[in-house]
Amino acid sequence: MPNSNRFGGMKMGTKGTQIVGKGAKEIIDMLNRALADEWLAYYQYWIGALVVRGPMRPNVQDELSEHANEELGHAKMLADRIIELGGTPILNPADWVKKSGCGYDEPKDPHVLKVLAQNIKGEQCAIMAYSEMLERIKGLKDPLTFHLVRKILQDEVKHEQDLQDLEQDIKMI
Ligand code: FE
Ligand code: FE
Ligand code: MG
Repeated sequence: MPNSNRFGGMKMGTKGTQIVGKGAKEIIDMLNRALADEWLAYYQYWIGALVVRGPMRPNVQDELSEHANEELGHAKMLADRIIELGGTPILNPADWVKKSGCGYDEPKDPHVLKVLAQNIKGEQCAIMAYSEMLERIKGLKDPLTFHLVRKILQDEVKHEQDLQDLEQDIKMI
């Protein structure tokens, strides 16, 4: 490529995608699966905060609501990155369950310990999924997605810790 038109006529989005190279399609698929997981996690926390019953209910509700908002934030970060890479974020909610890796646990039993256990299981699945994704992305040379997934992983680790702390406190009552 001659120097004179090295950056000529190139839209930022195009160059931004080009530096990722051949792995872009695979990365977009991984990010969409994570996006599905985040939406399901968001709803599981959101509805859990409304139906939960038992000891320390207000504390549990606050933590679940806080996590719901953070999962929604993750969904936004993932969707933004999918678009940057030239992909299309999942457009139909019917695909959330279909494409999800961690699935959805219906909080049929509203007891605080049951709801917490379900969400801890969800966080542990998310931690595994994002760790595996990091390993995969390492080989695909996309430092921006790597950084993003690493940040989300850090949040999921904190989520697990927060829920387990609550669980422990409730069991001490
Ligand atoms: Fe999340
Ligand atoms: Fe989480
Ligand atoms: Mg928290």
